Amino acid sequence: MSNPGWADWQAVEKIDPEAAEAILAEVHRENSKIELIASENFSSTAVLAALGTPLTNKYAEGYPGKRYYGGCEYVDVVENLAIERAKKIFGAAHVNVQPHAGAQANAAAYFAFLQPGDTFMGMELAHGGHLTHGSHVNFTGKLFNVVSYGVRKEDELIDLDEVRDIAKKNRPRLIVAGATAYSRIWDFEAFRGIADEIGAIFVVDAAHFIGLVAGGAHPNPVEHADVVTCTTHKTLRGPRGAMIMCREEHASVIDKSVFPAWQGGPMMHSIAAKAVALAEAATDEFRTYAHQVVANARAMAATFREEGLRVVSGGTDNHLMLVDVRPFELTGKVAEERLDAVGITVNKNAIPYDPEKPFIASGIRIGSPAITTCGMKEGEASEVARLIAVALRDESRADEVAGRVEELTTRFRPYPDVA
Ligand SMILES: *Cc1c(COP(=O)(O)O)cnc(C)c1O
Repeated sequence: MSNPGWADWQAVEKIDPEAAEAILAEVHRENSKIELIASENFSSTAVLAALGTPLTNKYAEGYPGKRYYGGCEYVDVVENLAIERAKKIFGAAHVNVQPHAGAQANAAAYFAFLQPGDTFMGMELAHGGHLTHGSHVNFTGKLFNVVSYGVRKEDELIDLDEVRDIAKKNRPRLIVAGATAYSRIWDFEAFRGIADEIGAIFVVDAAHFIGLVAGGAHPNPVEHADVVTCTTHKTLRGPRGAMIMCREEHASVIDKSVFPAWQGGPMMHSIAAKAVALAEAATDEFRTYAHQVVANARAMAATFREEGLRVVSGGTDNHLMLVDVRPFELTGKVAEERLDAVGITVNKNAIPYDPEKPFIASGIRIGSPAITTCGMKEGEASEVARLIAVALRDESRADEVAGRVEELTTRFRPYPDVA
């Protein structure tokens, strides 16, 4: 097929030079910094090309074969491709690929089963849970009666006995497992058992680790949960967006909860890009990628420990870790700024039982998905961890670290074809 060529960059530059300049500057930034934000990744040019298509024009409220608009024959094909690929990769009975983002997927999943005022149980934000797991500033905290579980002080792991006690005492209608800053494997089977003991719906929010599941580098929650929500832009490396997978018995309530309850028309260009990303995720190359993400995170955790920093819970089983920077007498905020100055992008993050306020924090969150996409292996990953330790320990060596970051990003960058 001929190249349709509507990714017309010259047109953007001609019509809106100001936006074009900022967009190019962002691509340059992505190419020239070491990206360690655990929720970020770099989409392939195939995914980006699918996003920039006239599918953005099409209204397709409803689902394939049952739309409220005419002319949906081709977007139906695209949506079905995304659905069938996700079903096959994750072994899901039913998939909805329309959620615009992770927060919307969670809203739809929760309200498929809950009414305002119902009791809801999720992981405490301060221990690694997401805002949509019950934070008071989020719709979950405002609309539900929230009970939370966290990690033990001694080993910073989830205490399943405590989870069971809290669940039995408060009898939530729904329990969500999953987090934004937990570096260990979840015992989905144990959560399933606890939910069954009290007749609760069990949701897994796999936003962070879903790409590892796709690549066989993490246990699959789909077999244990009633519903699994996930983003498509984190470890899965697709376009910004989300999906919901569920058991057949929940298919109809989930679909109705996404549309018409929580969303209007689906973003068909984004769904096309999800289909492309899922085609990529089904390859051997992606399996290798997912395992490398975990190997790189492990290598970094080991190096941080050697350098005298403390890794929360002692290490990682997935793509991320929290690093306690107090051994270097720093706060997370200062560490984030100091690393930014040498071209390494991280986010400050509260650690469990953090004495500092969240905006200061005692830790930084480190993720390996983006550097792994750029081709880094264990050797480079542990060098990056060492550079972080050097920059944090000794501010006078900032220039030396920045120079090495520049060399590394010349070799390992997401979009080498963009100057
Ligand atoms: C990122 C994330 C979300 C939200 O995703 P958005 O696309 O930013 O709305 C939800 N849950 C968890 C656990 C996440 O990590």
